[in-house]
Amino acid sequence: MLSPFNLLLITSGFSIVMLFVLASLLRSGIAGIREWTTANILAAVALILYACRDVIPDLLSIDLANVLSGLAACILFLGFRRFFGLTTSRAPMAISLATLTLLILTFHYGYNSIAARTVIISAFFGVLCLAISITIFRHAWHAPSPYPYRFTATVAALFAIGHWSRSVVYWTGADHLTSTMQGSNWNLLFLSLGTLMLPIFTMGAIMMVHDRMMSKAIEDANHDFLTGAWSRRAFFEFATRELTRARRMQRSLSLLVFDVDHFKRINDTHGHAAGDRVLVEIVARAELEIRSMDYIARMGGEEFAVLLPEVDAAAAIAVAERLRIRLGTQTAADPATIAAVPYTVSVGVATHDGRETMAELMHRADMALYAAKSGGRNIVVSADVPETQPLTADV
Ligand code: GH3
Ligand code: MG
Ligand code: MG
Repeated sequence: MLSPFNLLLITSGFSIVMLFVLASLLRSGIAGIREWTTANILAAVALILYACRDVIPDLLSIDLANVLSGLAACILFLGFRRFFGLTTSRAPMAISLATLTLLILTFHYGYNSIAARTVIISAFFGVLCLAISITIFRHAWHAPSPYPYRFTATVAALFAIGHWSRSVVYWTGADHLTSTMQGSNWNLLFLSLGTLMLPIFTMGAIMMVHDRMMSKAIEDANHDFLTGAWSRRAFFEFATRELTRARRMQRSLSLLVFDVDHFKRINDTHGHAAGDRVLVEIVARAELEIRSMDYIARMGGEEFAVLLPEVDAAAAIAVAERLRIRLGTQTAADPATIAAVPYTVSVGVATHDGRETMAELMHRADMALYAAKSGGRNIVVSADVPETQPLTADV
């Protein structure tokens, strides 16, 4: 049978179940999970205390239960703030909780009114629900995958309305409350809504954590860990899409493949860490040389590829030449200079012939790179304009 007692115990059970789900996510290290876990523990305790009304002392079932649930709501809110990397000053939170405690005690021992206590605690919950809603709205409404954020922010706003409606009902005396255990329709309605609140918030939080973990996994898979350039996997995905578009629109598309000359020697002479810094610097410098619509990827080891949409053979050679000079010249004033180790690169260039596949285009660029290596290194070789090969071997 539906009774306030049952509802409170069910809610408490939900909070305990949610604890297991949250515990499984703790090792993700995502900020907020600890707070949400604490909020669920406090809420479960508070709900059990509420449910034990008339069985245990009022101090526990009324005063402590109300204060604990207020604290749980504050910590829940803190969890959402921390999730978005926001710090929260503790003072306003402590003052609000102290005021809540004082009001609960006043309306218990000074002027005993369950209606007043309900108005106060519901208004308090309403404010925190709205604060949670605003926090999520402001920081994630336009997230790349907004569903978990919009869901949680929307239910938080609805819960704020629900809590304030409860305050209004007991403020105006639309329902006369004599006990939390009372079976009136209003009381059951609000308790039922309250049953849903923390589990839904926690579910929203869990969806947000999943979204963050998924975004990070995609980000990691698409980027090279050391240099931050696109990964080989992501590059082929973009390149194939760009190639299809170039073919359909009959636009040019060029590919540069470049490799650090005698990189093994750099490692042997200056150490592996210096070699790593060269790789990082190469990407930082190359990014200054290419447009935002171009893609630079680390294909493996010390070999990189740059995809140049809407760039024809002649322009691609010019870009390759600029890149080769930029990478081979050490300037102290260069904002991207961090390696302080001299190095050069050889570049192979190929421009899409309008029919070939990505693998074929890549193969021609690779062949041009081999030609650049065997042609003496530190040069650009084009697979399409062979006569431009040994243009500028020394700068
Ligand atoms: P070439 O001019 O013919 O390209 O000669 P190379 O020495 O650059 O080419 P080789 O393939 O002989 O050596 C590549 C070296 O790159 C060997 C490998 O240890 C080093 N290497 C691969 N990945 C990394 C990395 O992430 N960091 C560092 N520091 N070295 C790497
Ligand atoms: Mg090399
Ligand atoms: Mg190599």
